[in-house]
Amino acid sequence: MIVELVSTGTELLLGQIINTNAPFLATRLNELGFSVIYQTTVGDNRDRMKLVLKTALERADLVITTGGLGPTQGDITKEVTASLLGKTLYLDEASAKQIEQYFATRRTCMPSNNLRQAMMPEGARIVENTCGTAPGVIIEDEATGKIIINLPGPPHECSAMFETSIVSYLSERFGFQGAIVSRVLRTYGLGESALEERIKHYILSQSNPTIALLARSGEIHVRITAQAASEPKALQMIHDLESQIRPLLGEHVFGIDEDTIEMSVGKLLLEKKLSAALAESCTGGLVTSRITDVPGSSRYLTGSIVCYSNTVKVEQVGVAEEILAEKGAVSRETAQSMAQGIREKFCAGVGIGITGIAGPDGATADKPVGLVYIAIDGPAGTNCYEHYFTGARTDIKNRTALAALSHLRH
Ligand code: ATP
Ligand code: MG
Repeated sequence: MIVELVSTGTELLLGQIINTNAPFLATRLNELGFSVIYQTTVGDNRDRMKLVLKTALERADLVITTGGLGPTQGDITKEVTASLLGKTLYLDEASAKQIEQYFATRRTCMPSNNLRQAMMPEGARIVENTCGTAPGVIIEDEATGKIIINLPGPPHECSAMFETSIVSYLSERFGFQGAIVSRVLRTYGLGESALEERIKHYILSQSNPTIALLARSGEIHVRITAQAASEPKALQMIHDLESQIRPLLGEHVFGIDEDTIEMSVGKLLLEKKLSAALAESCTGGLVTSRITDVPGSSRYLTGSIVCYSNTVKVEQVGVAEEILAEKGAVSRETAQSMAQGIREKFCAGVGIGITGIAGPDGATADKPVGLVYIAIDGPAGTNCYEHYFTGARTDIKNRTALAALSHLRH
């Protein structure tokens, strides 16, 4: 089964956004046993898109497009697909109702343009969009037996639709033998090559289950996919492989599938019956924000202060003026004092102090951009970690937040 992925969108050609849909789909399709042998990118131009789709249909059995299903005039993927296959568009009442419902739930008026998203090629299967407005489309061309699937562009909509509807369609249509099941082990703290080195033996000898490594916002995900006669059998195969590689990855695994590092921090604090308070400087509240992404975090988060200025560090968090004068705001001593001060102020079980230089300016000869101190003060004393992160300002903030959450787990 030969597949071509067609990413649509002029922003992709201009280099304004990075194509993440194609690697996602390529990884998943390969895991499912399909051969992705072409990936094409085309802008929002009718003639060129038609030519690309025509070529793709000539050389592949299955063509999956992403993007261009939205309500604006530039969103043309469905129209171009329909015209290529000689199909007309009709207004699908069920899709129209669902789109209207989407806006009603958000108490906003639906712009009339949005009804364009309910225009469907005749004979198409319509795929519900559970996290956006544009439904997806599956068209089987009776004349050639070839298939085109149109998926939405926003990555979370594209991946959700693929996982919830397209995998089952493909399995039904191409009669996979039994079940294909995946599990993702989410890790932090090991680089991609260090991680690969640890489980090299399993990666080299893989056939079923397969192992794929995916770097995602500072985390490395290890996806194990097994194919078996039934779901319980596939799950058992995943379990067997997981129990062999888990010891090699140790504490770097913080969760499975949708588990986030902040969820694992929450679980741990609850288990240890500890509350946490934060004094954040260079992260501007990012760690607190991530902790509060977890429902029920009020059970273990007491509070947080964004102590960006020295005055707030001294007056609100209790950092001694001498420490700031002698060691500087970005120092081990300041981070420790912030952690101890906030723990005491909020009567928390654990205090976290974070200070660093997010850049691009603020560096000195001995303190480069990216230098960060994360201190954790708890019942067993204070630990302070020094990091040298690289990247743009927001990268450094995000990496610091991830590191702080990771230290909180230990
Ligand atoms: P919308 O209803 O949001 O308009 P759409 O299906 O029409 O969705 P596009 O308009 O092509 O999709 O893209 C919408 C946004 O989704 C883009 O601005 C971009 O942020 C993101 N996006 C689209 N394609 C990709 C891709 N291949 N990789 C990563 N992000 C993408
Ligand atoms: Mg669009």
